[in-house]
Amino acid sequence: MPGTVILRSRRAKPFFSRHPWIYAGAIGEVQGQPADGDEVEVFSHGGHFIARGLYNSRSRVRVRLYCWEANRPLDESFWRERLEQAIRLRRDVLHLLAPGKACRLVFSEGDGLSGLTVDWYDGWVVLQFTGLGLALRRDMFVRILVELLRPRGILLRIEKSISPLEGLDLTEGVLWGETPREPVVIEENGVVFLVDLTGGQKTGFYLDQRENHVAVSRYAAGRRVLDAFCYTGGFGLHAARHGALEVLGVDSSAGAIRLAQLNAERNRLSQVRFVEAEVFRFLEELAREQQRFGLIILDPPKFAHRQSAVENALQGYRRLLALSLLLLETEGILVTCCCSGLITMEMLEELAAQAATKARRHVQILERHYQPADHPVAVSCRESSYLKCLIKRVY
Ligand code: SAH
Repeated sequence: MPGTVILRSRRAKPFFSRHPWIYAGAIGEVQGQPADGDEVEVFSHGGHFIARGLYNSRSRVRVRLYCWEANRPLDESFWRERLEQAIRLRRDVLHLLAPGKACRLVFSEGDGLSGLTVDWYDGWVVLQFTGLGLALRRDMFVRILVELLRPRGILLRIEKSISPLEGLDLTEGVLWGETPREPVVIEENGVVFLVDLTGGQKTGFYLDQRENHVAVSRYAAGRRVLDAFCYTGGFGLHAARHGALEVLGVDSSAGAIRLAQLNAERNRLSQVRFVEAEVFRFLEELAREQQRFGLIILDPPKFAHRQSAVENALQGYRRLLALSLLLLETEGILVTCCCSGLITMEMLEELAAQAATKARRHVQILERHYQPADHPVAVSCRESSYLKCLIKRVY
């Protein structure tokens, strides 16, 4: 018998609407002493069945919900079906599972699998767990993924900031098959990238920027480009491929810069230069030298992880925008990206408006972009919408 979780009165509505995170504050009573990671059935205060989920006393998200059918247990056939459904989207609908390609196969809440991320890199699979319940079932997930995908190897990467919040005790490494001895080569929109699956950031590559790389590259022809927070060159190399006169990329990660340089060589793009530096200081330096660019991309890391950090994050963006406006030619293109769900598109637009007023310049919004379809947004969990990319012209 699975344990039972009974919600407090008037707290059930979001969960009937299929939001997957039940915080401790919504819970009235837990019956049956479920262990962490165990399956539980969730009922409203009035005794109506709502859903089934996995329990974790160590997390603020006390229960993650997965199934809203009363008689469907969370057994292997349930998880298999969820994985198959996620894979079908990428393989049959989006056609992203082709040789040489990379994509996100499972996007946690976006695919009804809260706490699991699975990425595909030309035959290699990288898993990340951000919830204990699914992490405890990792051998089962590996078994199913091997069967469904026939990969060369399955690796586990860890999001270090999350492990203590969930009580996760995982070690990075190969879970099945071979270890890639060198960076894996993937192709994105005709540009080739080396990806370090074991040492790179996240699972190795910022797969969520695939379409934004193309959208921005349409403005690159004939311009001098500054790719700030360039990682392994995603925006900069696309810009170079689409006719940028010159590309300067900057990132503080030495490993990322090394791969960015190798990527430039591999794509035979000679007008690019990548520099290891701290972006804020580097932009100040460029401004002092009175350098000018026709296209500037700002793709910083997540500045705001929680609500209390939002004001600081906005301050960071204000500083970046002010510096960029000093460096941008008249009628230049300015791109700002943001991967924090706590900062909305409206807030990014407001930041642009404030920066324009301060710098006494006109800013036009040309395009608004979000995350690609292999990072789907669950309408029941709008928190799964996080990426924004705003393309502007400044005169
Ligand atoms: N634009 C990249 C993804 C960038 S992710 C792409 O399209 O692939 C954010 C990057 O910012 C990371 O590579 C990280 O190393 C870098 N970073 C974080 N803080 C930084 C700082 N203060 N100065 C320079 N780079 C920084």
